[in-house]
Amino acid sequence: MHIVNVFEKDTIVAPATPPGEGGIGIVRLSGLKAEEFLCDYFSPSSATGRLESNYLYHGFLKDHRGHVLDEVMAVIMRQPRSYTREDVCEIHCHGGGLIVRRVVDLFLRAGARMARPGEFTLRAFLNGRIDLTRAEAVIDLIRSRSELASNIAINQLNGGLADKIAFLREKLILLLAEVEAAIDFSEEDIEIEGSCSLGKTAGQMMSEMDDLIQSFECGRIAKEGVNILILGRPNVGKSSLLNSLLGEARAIVTDIPGTTRDTIEEDLVLGGLPLRLVDTAGIRHTEDPVEAEGVRRARSKIEGADLVLLVVDGSMSLDNDDLLAIDACRHKDVLVVLNKADLGSLPFPDCLGQFPVVKISALQGLGLTDLVDKISQHFTFRPEVSEARETVILTEFRHKQALMAARDSLGRFRESLVQGMSPEFSAVEIGEALDRVGEITGETTPDDVLDRIFTKFCIGK
Ligand code: GDP
Ligand code: ZN
Repeated sequence: MHIVNVFEKDTIVAPATPPGEGGIGIVRLSGLKAEEFLCDYFSPSSATGRLESNYLYHGFLKDHRGHVLDEVMAVIMRQPRSYTREDVCEIHCHGGGLIVRRVVDLFLRAGARMARPGEFTLRAFLNGRIDLTRAEAVIDLIRSRSELASNIAINQLNGGLADKIAFLREKLILLLAEVEAAIDFSEEDIEIEGSCSLGKTAGQMMSEMDDLIQSFECGRIAKEGVNILILGRPNVGKSSLLNSLLGEARAIVTDIPGTTRDTIEEDLVLGGLPLRLVDTAGIRHTEDPVEAEGVRRARSKIEGADLVLLVVDGSMSLDNDDLLAIDACRHKDVLVVLNKADLGSLPFPDCLGQFPVVKISALQGLGLTDLVDKISQHFTFRPEVSEARETVILTEFRHKQALMAARDSLGRFRESLVQGMSPEFSAVEIGEALDRVGEITGETTPDDVLDRIFTKFCIGK
């Protein structure tokens, strides 16, 4: 189903609040007949005549037989001053599943259609109120589970990314105009005038695109969280570390159920950073098949980790099992956690010299702040970024892909100048870059991509 093709001018309705009991439940209507439907069933307690736009009215909602359904507050937001840029009505009723259901049913019977997932936001996009990056920011904001993620989403919702893309598009259009001028004026293949400066402009744009492309790493982490693996031989204090970090956490997002008994995963937010902590069975040499399976699982988690917390007992010298653990994660980003500092410490072992180190006592809760700081520092963006709302950070893989394709086109454009190829050829590359950049904000986005974006939404948004 192509969501855009089925977009019609009919009036849609959906609950805007989540199912279940709550203080209020909101039902939303959007479309040509929204006002008519509302006025057929809503009797304001004081107002007479036409309801004013953007005013909240107290009154009663009556069903088709004239029986009172609920005491409600209702508002009309006439287009274009509404979420969808169509006439939108909201009915704030009492928040109970059945009441909300009955209000929705009332409008369905009147001729409204149930909204599809994300259809309100889709209409806002199709009616030109928001571009695609803002629409995507709406879902990101709703789903965000850390300050960092929600700050990035708010910046995007305010047009941070859209402005940047518009700026790139403008520059591309200027570039195209210059190249097309060369096409118009040349009878034969003559070189594009000032091709050297055009090449330079293209180069600058490519590096601006690169900056954005690189920011995706941060955006991905902010959105999905970082994977942190706690590794080490048995008894060094891995589970104690997990527990003390859980104690430090501002918010524990989920206990992930159903994990095997020898790896435990927890989603939490530490220092503004969403992370998934994975505690594993201790790594060591063993003949016991059950334990060996635990060790195998621990090892299998290493590849997917963004950072390994390698725990060692700082009060004892390293043994062969410690060396086994060190060896298993040597190729990864590692932060050594010297635990049991309360028991005193031996000189720092040479073979760990290549890694950054934090000294802690999981048992007594010492050094945890330092550990959390080192973890956030490791992920280049740090807490400063969460304050810097001006920073544009990519969070969608499709944005990154589009920018990479646009940058490659610009690269070929530059190459075509160097080779003195015909301006027509150069123009094609810029046109291509323009198309790809336009996919990000929605000017040139294929329908199936739009489908995918809006079906991620819930009904009523
Ligand atoms: P794991 O096998 O690596 O998960 O280790 P545990 O977290 O189960 O801890 C093993 C033992 O070390 C337990 O008896 C803990 O109480 C103890 N332990 C853990 N951290 C510390 C610490 O910082 N100081 C001291 N003195 N003991 C600790
Ligand atoms: Zn453990």
